[in-house]
Amino acid sequence: ELREAQHLAISDPLTGLPNRRGIDSTLNREISRARRHKVPLCLSVLDLDHFKQINDSHGHVIGDMALIHVAHTLKGSLRDVDLLARFGGEEFMVIMPDTALMGAEFGVNRLLQYLLARPLIVDQLEIPLCFSAGVAQWTFDESVLQLIARTDKALYAAKAAGRSRVAVAPAGDEAVSVTQQHKG
Ligand code: GH3
Ligand code: MG
Ligand code: MG
Repeated sequence: ELREAQHLAISDPLTGLPNRRGIDSTLNREISRARRHKVPLCLSVLDLDHFKQINDSHGHVIGDMALIHVAHTLKGSLRDVDLLARFGGEEFMVIMPDTALMGAEFGVNRLLQYLLARPLIVDQLEIPLCFSAGVAQWTFDESVLQLIARTDKALYAAKAAGRSRVAVAPAGDEAVSVTQQHKG
C-alpha cells in the first residue's frame, strides 16, 4: 500500500507518466550518474504549440485526449534509455542519459517529425499537434535548476523563432541555435 501511494505521488494521473515530483529525483539521480561515470547527459523540455487553441476550438475533453495522445506518441518514438515525464500542463520533459548535444538535438527533432506525422484523430477530425523544444547538455557542476533554466531559455528561443522546432542551448554565453522544421 505504501509503495502504491508512493507511486501515485510521482505519477501524472492523465498520462500515466512521471510527474514533476517524479522527474526531480530522476534528474538528480541521472546527474549524479553522469558526474560519477563522466558520461554526457542531455535534457529537453517540450511545450505544445498553441495548445490553448485546441481547448478553445475542441473543448477540454479533447484537449486531455490530445495530451494522452502526445504522451503515447512520444513514448513510442523514444529510445528505451530515454525518460519521458509530464513536466507541467502541456509541457513534457525528456532525459537522455549517455547522450551528447548533437544526438539529443537529432532525437528531439525525430520526435517532432514523428508527432507531426501522427495527428490526433477524433470522429474523423484530424487535429494536428506540434511542439517547440529546448535541448541542453548538462555541464559539469551545473545544478538541476541551472540545467532546467538553460533548457527553458532554448525552448523560449524555439517559440520566438516560429514554433514547431528545436533549439539548442549553448554551454556558455553564445546565442541559442535553432533548427528549422518543416510541418506535415
Ligand atoms: P504556446 O505555443 O505559446 O505554448 O501557446 P499555448 O497556447 O500552448 O500556451 P499557453 O501557456 O497560453 O496555454 C497552455 C494551455 O494548455 C492552456 C491550458 O488550458 C492548457 N492545459 C494545460 N494543462 C492542461 C490539461 O491538463 N488539460 C487540458 N485540456 N488543457 C491543459
Ligand atoms: Mg506551456
Ligand atoms: Mg504551449
